[in-house]
Amino acid sequence: MNRTIDNWIDGAMAAPESGAYLDNVNPKTGEVCGKIARSGPQDVARAIAAAEAAPRLSVADRSDLLMAVADAVSERIPEFAAAEAEDSGKTLAATTKGDIPRALDNLRYFAAAIRTDQTACHQMEDGLNYTLRQPLGTVATITPWNFPLHLFTWKIGPAIAMGNAVVAKPSEMTPSTATLFAEAFSGVGAPRGLLNVVHGLGAEAGEPLVTDPRIKAVSFTGGTATGKRIASQAAPLLKKISLELGGKNPSLVFADCDMEKAAAGVARAAFFNTGQVCLCGSRLLVEASIHDEFVSALKRQVESGDWTPGTSMGSLISFEHREKVASYVDLARQEGGTVVFGGNKVGAEKSAFFEPTLITGLPIDCRTATEEIFGPVVTVHPFTGEEDALQMANAVEYGLASSIWTQDITRAHRLAARIESGMVWINTWNKRDFRVPFGGMKQSGVGREGGRYAMEFFSQDRNICIQL
Ligand code: NDP
Repeated sequence: MNRTIDNWIDGAMAAPESGAYLDNVNPKTGEVCGKIARSGPQDVARAIAAAEAAPRLSVADRSDLLMAVADAVSERIPEFAAAEAEDSGKTLAATTKGDIPRALDNLRYFAAAIRTDQTACHQMEDGLNYTLRQPLGTVATITPWNFPLHLFTWKIGPAIAMGNAVVAKPSEMTPSTATLFAEAFSGVGAPRGLLNVVHGLGAEAGEPLVTDPRIKAVSFTGGTATGKRIASQAAPLLKKISLELGGKNPSLVFADCDMEKAAAGVARAAFFNTGQVCLCGSRLLVEASIHDEFVSALKRQVESGDWTPGTSMGSLISFEHREKVASYVDLARQEGGTVVFGGNKVGAEKSAFFEPTLITGLPIDCRTATEEIFGPVVTVHPFTGEEDALQMANAVEYGLASSIWTQDITRAHRLAARIESGMVWINTWNKRDFRVPFGGMKQSGVGREGGRYAMEFFSQDRNICIQL
């Protein structure tokens, strides 16, 4: 479909002040499928002014609005799913059954949670304290291309639930569903300016948002380098920031695992969303005694058809990103690795499909095994014993997620407490509950999202003390 994606400011579509547009490219074909507003500081300033002027709503009205927009979008899932699949290269099945319904669940969760939010009362012998939880004002959300509408609602849901107005900057590679959503939000009666969407490049539209003093908090998901830049710009202004960044996550597989279940789970961790998930298990640590057997089990998983580019697995986000992923496979060969399966670009010359790829024989500290590739490429490393596994798991600068596959549950708990990652899954991967803390250690980020963590981020608690 050839469409123009404009900004959504003050309750209406808004062309960029400059009149400039970027191409929106379908990564499955390499063809231009539309135009995206290339916004700059003036557009950002207009969006912030609209947010500042937006009326603030009661808790019940915010909750009703979020529920209403979730219901409205759920009537239009095919339209949203098609737009998301075209922008991102995902399969239509993934966006229809996964991304879009999940995005709506985010809104419903926070719509319900805000109605039961509580603050504390602290009694003293001769005094009484109570806590007021209040909105921050206008906040910014900056989201990436790997789960466009899901991550957008994961942030704007709690931001709006807590009473803020939002200026959102989606990735310029996946702009469509954010604008469709903003329009739907207006359609169910959201006040003008409560949610504004500004499209464009990070440097041109993202930075002015981060550096504007009227923006009280920035919630960002994306690469670690960008996260550090945002942190350095927000720090002098003493803004609240939440940074969900990259990962190079280990999957630890012990000889006593349930082999077929572990292979299916590890394949999902490695190849889900074509490996473009910050949580992806891209470093596979396998107990040496089952190394070859487990590699064969993984190969069977891929041959089963669950991870076939173009049918059951989508493309990468762009032709350029595919070049980057392919360059890591070349690097792996130079570093002494053996490509056991995959390793090739597939599909049209300018498309972005890439095979699920497994590489063995690499040192644990080489670049391929320590840098975030963000594609369907997993490296396998044998270990002997728990301590060895733990040392290898922790030997990267990232600390986002990990999974442990064993039937010895005591060992799993022992390791889970010592692995340096914000999230640990035992005999599963990416099993998510809205209430749990989501976020990373080390270079994987600062802060936690999810449930009350996101609600606390998008609000401020103030204490009132009364002399009795
Ligand atoms: P970025 O971190 O550059 O982009 C994420 C978002 O930040 C986008 O909306 C982007 O805008 C915006 N942005 C970029 N620069 C700035 C800036 N200076 N100020 C404010 N906002 C900015 O990710 P990339 O798309 O470049 O991907 C690079 C790598 O990051 C990937 O290969 C992967 O390793 C990692 N990544 C991690 C993700 C995660 O889930 N943690 C998600 C995506 C990427 P725009 O795209 O318009 O430039």
